[in-house]
Amino acid sequence: MAIIQGIYAREILDSRGWPTIECTLWMDTGGIVATSVPTGTSIGKYEALELRDKDPNRMLGKGVLTAVNYINTYIAPQIVGKDPTNQEEIDNIMIKLDGTANKSKLGANSLLAISQAVLKAGALSQNMPLYYYVMQKYQLTQTMAIPTCIYTVVNGGEHGANNLDIQEFQVIPASHLSFEGSLDMAVTIFQKLEEVLILKGAIHSIGLVGGFTPNLYSNSDVFEIMVETIKATPYTFTQDLFFGIDVAAEQFYNNGRYTIKDRSQPYSGEELLAYYKKLRDMYNVFYLEDPYQEDDLKMWQAVTNEIGETTKIVGDSFLATNKAKLENAIANKLCNTLLVKPNQVGTITETIDVIKVAKAAGWQIVMSHRSGETNDDFIADLAVGVGADYAKFGPTNRGERTAKYNRLAQINFELAQHYQQDATPAQS
Ligand code: PEP
Ligand code: MG
Repeated sequence: MAIIQGIYAREILDSRGWPTIECTLWMDTGGIVATSVPTGTSIGKYEALELRDKDPNRMLGKGVLTAVNYINTYIAPQIVGKDPTNQEEIDNIMIKLDGTANKSKLGANSLLAISQAVLKAGALSQNMPLYYYVMQKYQLTQTMAIPTCIYTVVNGGEHGANNLDIQEFQVIPASHLSFEGSLDMAVTIFQKLEEVLILKGAIHSIGLVGGFTPNLYSNSDVFEIMVETIKATPYTFTQDLFFGIDVAAEQFYNNGRYTIKDRSQPYSGEELLAYYKKLRDMYNVFYLEDPYQEDDLKMWQAVTNEIGETTKIVGDSFLATNKAKLENAIANKLCNTLLVKPNQVGTITETIDVIKVAKAAGWQIVMSHRSGETNDDFIADLAVGVGADYAKFGPTNRGERTAKYNRLAQINFELAQHYQQDATPAQS
């Protein structure tokens, strides 16, 4: 048994250049792990609180020194001396210390920094790769496999530059493509898309997660350009891939109406649903993340009822990795797919609990990065370990995104070399 000897947090910078927390944990065995927490931009109203200093004289108020100080002086002393494999006990101590429903006292970022470090330390103490440790510990999947990757190619909304309203346009590989095949497809399309956008004089810049942010007249134009791009690759649209969007609709919602540049008049909820149907029928858009504002329950139910058979209706800001919200969505058929972001809830134990509920209901799971990332590849192991169906780690560029895809590639190699399909180590 290993014992946690020390925990130390520091303020570091994320991929957007804003502060976040890195946490180092060491054990009596000499083992040391480090991890850092991601941070969001389009933060949903029901997410747990990310604690920031709000000191206008430092880092424009976004510093995390208060959270770092809580970890080092208040939380760590309660955790030192514990066995890192006791994840639930440790997370519960932190949940109790915080004592609020949305982690507003100590911050979800403080708690998650320790929670992730403890999970990594538990794996190290057992001499297991993190994904294998997660799988053994939580038994949420019988087989180990690389999730289908959802590759962002174009950014708009809060991730873009006021160019488009929809936050992410994604390509999603068809099931006959292996992980390597899907990566080839995503890289080929992403690089070709840049050429096409340059030719059209439409390229503007890249967005927060690395997707292109072209100047186009409407959101629908992206699909026309994507179809044209795919024709210039060896891949065939509708056979090798389909499209997805993270609408993040709460960003363009006002008083029951949705304003996007595809039409001069704002859409009612029903009109927006007709628009989604059109995208599905014309462009095979089979993945809709946050298609409505968080409290527009009537439309969430309507979209699930009307196109949920063919389309993944995915709750990100809507479900906020929150168990009660998920249970309500299952009971009332408000969507059909759970997007998981551990920092929306604050601990690994709570994240696992939410995944359990979704799996018990037969729902699929998307494991997701945040727009503010670091080079930590923790989320790739977590995705494989819990048997996520999909992984959404952004486009195939920028170090903080490729860190995750490269980790998936490494796990893919290890699975082929060292583990059998039923997840037992292969005989040497
Ligand atoms: C998302 O909405 O899926 C996302 C990754 O954005 P953010 O991290 O900014 O909330
Ligand atoms: Mg989202």
